[in-house]
Amino acid sequence: MKKGSSGESPPLEFMSATPGKRPRKRLFVGLVTGASILLCLFLLAGWIIPLVGLGGIHPSIPWITGILLACCIALIVWAALGLVLQIVWGRPFWGGIAVRGIVITFFLPIMELLARPFGFSTDEVRRSFIKVNNELTEKQHPALPAERILILLPHCLQRADCRIRLSDSVEACERCGRCPVAGLLALRDAYGVNLAIATGGTIARRIVVETRPKLIIAVACERDLTSGIRDTHPLPVLGILNDRPEGPCRNTVVRLDLIEKALQRFVARGSMQ
Ligand code: SF4
Repeated sequence: MKKGSSGESPPLEFMSATPGKRPRKRLFVGLVTGASILLCLFLLAGWIIPLVGLGGIHPSIPWITGILLACCIALIVWAALGLVLQIVWGRPFWGGIAVRGIVITFFLPIMELLARPFGFSTDEVRRSFIKVNNELTEKQHPALPAERILILLPHCLQRADCRIRLSDSVEACERCGRCPVAGLLALRDAYGVNLAIATGGTIARRIVVETRPKLIIAVACERDLTSGIRDTHPLPVLGILNDRPEGPCRNTVVRLDLIEKALQRFVARGSMQ
């Protein structure tokens, strides 16, 4: 197993390339632009319509509300343009982390709504978001000591008929090889990182508080990865989608080569055990 690559362009592909599920970065850029234009138009309409009535209360009110509106529009344009430039250049700029926070919190729900009339599913939008998030994380965050990295897994990776309970401790796994947990534990041991299984969002947050990582490599479905990236922001999360051959939340799998690629990129040289 190799370690500590420099992570220079072209960007590494951390997501599964399942046919029909290939994430599209252009979709994300288009939706960010569309959502910001829509928000600006909405704000303008909300200002122009009651303008006459506000002027009747006091002549300075339209000016004050106009200045506030201009500030909101400037913030939206800065967030949208800033993110698009980050994606194109692959470099952080002033306020880049805040920009990502604004987009995750305010833009993403609008983007999901905006995509529907054009035939894009919510999961497609989320995959494009995760892809963009991963590329920015890869380009903007340095390698770290192994003990500051956490691999966070969903419990559905464990075989449904396995008699062992892993929610208390992953060490209980007997590594029989019937599910990806055995291979993931081997990677954890080889690289010296932390690994935990979360049975839900609350447990995941508790694990993050206890292990205090500086980077999370998270495995989950589109919905859980998106909410996990949002909940832990500004803590960087590299999202790796699981595959669901038996449907959601049961006997899911993950490509171990993608996890190892992430470890090679982010575990600092000399920090492996
Ligand atoms: S590797 Fe085997 S023992 Fe470990 S969780 Fe999977 S099925 Fe259970």
